[in-house]
Amino acid sequence: MNRRFDAIVIGAGQAGPPMVGRLAAAGQKVALIERKLIGGTCVNTGCTPTKTLVASAYAAHLARRAADFGVNVGPVGVDFAAVMARKSNVVGNSRSRLGDWLRDMANCTVLEGHARFVSPTTIRVGDDVLEAERFFINVGGRAAIPDFPGRDQVRTLTNTTLLGLDVLPRCLVVVGGSYVGLEFAQVFRRFGAAVTVVEKAPRLVSREDEEVSHAIRKILEAEGIEVRLESECIRFEPRGADIAVGVNCMSGDPEVLGSHVLLAVGRRPNTDDLGLEVAGVEVDAHGYIVVDESLKTSAPHIWALGDCNGRGAFTHTSYNDFEIAAANLLDGAARKVGDRTPVYALYVDPPLGRAGLTEAEARAKGHAVRIGRRPMTRVARAVEKGETQGFMKVVVDSDTDAILGAAILGVGGDEAIHGVIEAMAAGVTASAYTRVMAIHPTVSELVPTIFGELSP
Ligand SMILES: Cc1cc2nc3c(=O)[nH]c(=O)nc-3n(C[C@H](O)[C@H](O)[C@H](O)COP(=O)(O)OP(=O)(O)OC[C@H]3O[C@@H](n4cnc5c(N)ncnc54)[C@H](O)[C@@H]3O)c2cc1C
Repeated sequence: MNRRFDAIVIGAGQAGPPMVGRLAAAGQKVALIERKLIGGTCVNTGCTPTKTLVASAYAAHLARRAADFGVNVGPVGVDFAAVMARKSNVVGNSRSRLGDWLRDMANCTVLEGHARFVSPTTIRVGDDVLEAERFFINVGGRAAIPDFPGRDQVRTLTNTTLLGLDVLPRCLVVVGGSYVGLEFAQVFRRFGAAVTVVEKAPRLVSREDEEVSHAIRKILEAEGIEVRLESECIRFEPRGADIAVGVNCMSGDPEVLGSHVLLAVGRRPNTDDLGLEVAGVEVDAHGYIVVDESLKTSAPHIWALGDCNGRGAFTHTSYNDFEIAAANLLDGAARKVGDRTPVYALYVDPPLGRAGLTEAEARAKGHAVRIGRRPMTRVARAVEKGETQGFMKVVVDSDTDAILGAAILGVGGDEAIHGVIEAMAAGVTASAYTRVMAIHPTVSELVPTIFGELSP
């Protein structure tokens, strides 16, 4: 017999569990289906483990620099097994707290298994057949594994398998010089691996302004990471115990050798095995579920939240999707996904905090812009901390004085950017921002100053 629910949530990522919480608290009978690990990518193979490793890598880096601060620590060693155990502990605690909360929740049934639509209002999970009036799809994504020549002859790693290693790679080749790849590159370099980053574009993180890409490259190269750009035709070949990665760059050796190879070349949505066609849910050419501004799919009783809808690729965008869908459904709000400002961070050290448009994006959209900049060498707090790499940059509309975007690449940049994010959300103009009194000494205190020093 079919089991009936008011709502079914597929996937326990970043939007699914809070959606279950809101619906259950509103008295609805809800089922949550998860095929693997509660918490999804962020908790298990994304944000939480990587930022835990970033913290260990930072500790090692600072310990090596101890003499700069007048502190003697002797030779610094990294116990990789202990580093990974700490990571697993943080991840495990986070996952089990979330699992306990869900399993103890009134009105909520948690089922393990792969969900697939068998009709617009019915899914199958193993032997169970479940029916509901509404569905919320939060199935996330996984690492894309392109068909590079020779890939099937060698063993490559993804973010998931790299996080499961128990021995530090001697020599790691990271294919993909963007957000995921660069975090791993710096972390493993700081743990003691030789690291090469291979990127097919002419610069790293090519979505960012050129000066940001350039500064990040300098930071990574200063730590001994080799960066190979314009790598036109990436290919693989076994070479003894190692893997030869053909790069064919414009300059330098045509191949690099690695004991391990990480593929970090993008993500693809987990939508190919959900039976979406049966449910009348459209996907685009890349498999992302097509949604409207309220995150409803082409089937009016089905919503798609998080990475699988292609409207964001972050934990905060997934959670914000939940907030929008829940507010519209349960609070009578009319929130739209297009109302939010794109924001994110890249957790290399020092981190890059980002809000809104880059300068290049703003110009491409036809804005006349004024720019404010300050190197971190002129930020007192950064100097005091002995961490002066990077710079801050703000982008302002010359005609309206509206803040269009900002990048803070520097110590505390992931936190300091929030002043700009909140100002943008509140519609604060650049000149109004200059009148803010900020705390000294902080990285944030210079943001009002930069808004007062704009040039065309
Ligand atoms: C290495 C790495 C580092 C990252 N770091 C950051 C960061 O620092 N900050 C940040 O904001 N973002 C980060 N991200 C991105 C972030 O992890 C995702 O954007 C976030 O997890 C949002 O995911 P989601 O809610 O869409 O789904 P996910 O978290 O991917 O969860 C989807 C869940 O659905 C389940 N599922 C899939 N199909 C089915 C099915 N048919 N039946 C049942 N269950 C199913 C999956 O098993 C999974 O548990 C990182 C990603 C990676 C890979």
